[in-house]
Amino acid sequence: MNILLEATRLSAGYGPLEIIRNINVRVLQGQLTVIVGPNGAGKTTLMRALSGILPLGQGGVALAGNAVESFNVSKRVSNGLVLVPEGRHLFTQMTVEENLELGGYLLPASERRRLMDEVLALFPRLAERRGQLAGTMSGGEQQMVAVGRAMMGKPRCMLLDEPSLGLAPKMVAELFRILRQICDQGTGVLLVEQNVRQALSVCDHAYILEQGQVVAEGSGQELLQGERIRKSYLGL
Ligand code: ATP
Repeated sequence: MNILLEATRLSAGYGPLEIIRNINVRVLQGQLTVIVGPNGAGKTTLMRALSGILPLGQGGVALAGNAVESFNVSKRVSNGLVLVPEGRHLFTQMTVEENLELGGYLLPASERRRLMDEVLALFPRLAERRGQLAGTMSGGEQQMVAVGRAMMGKPRCMLLDEPSLGLAPKMVAELFRILRQICDQGTGVLLVEQNVRQALSVCDHAYILEQGQVVAEGSGQELLQGERIRKSYLGL
């Protein structure tokens, strides 16, 4: 299977403060990869370093085999590496459809319309509410718009930082179903998630990040059955 995103011996932090150290992470094409870990472990810091928001201390980031660590955020985006911001970064006074359109603004109009149809097919709830102002949607629906808008940029690899934060359980399940579908269409997804049991149940591969380092990795099922997750994350 193709390696879509590969971080090698990555370190990053804030000023002199090193938060993540020596991280090796891979996302394969068509796979849902998850990062779990306690608060303050450095998950957000890792996502920011991968997306280019935060400069690297050391290490490399490769997208489909090409080094991108010297690329700024927008160059990484145009190469297909996209960080999905939280739903609250939408244009609240614009409709769902207008927000989605903005995600595909670089595409020719015919291609944009085709992608819009695809995205609306993926998110039936957004299709129903395409004319509604984004700011009047529920938190879960806004998160869906944010993911849909990222899809309009035809990403090769999507990075999502706790998209399920504050969502009702039904919405979380719906979001995971959609992420799975996005992977099945060939996109790679790297997801930071606090719903450990649910995330490990649906993912292909997962990493456990503790105190800035990867302390374990494996398939979701392997980790779910492992001592570390059962004790520290599931309280079993
Ligand atoms: P959470 O699940 O609570 O969001 P996290 O695993 O995403 O946690 P990070 O947000 O990456 O963790 O934070 C890791 C560490 O980096 C924390 O100790 C935090 O205080 C520190 N940190 C985060 N942002 C900054 C910043 N801008 N300046 C200095 N330290 C920061």
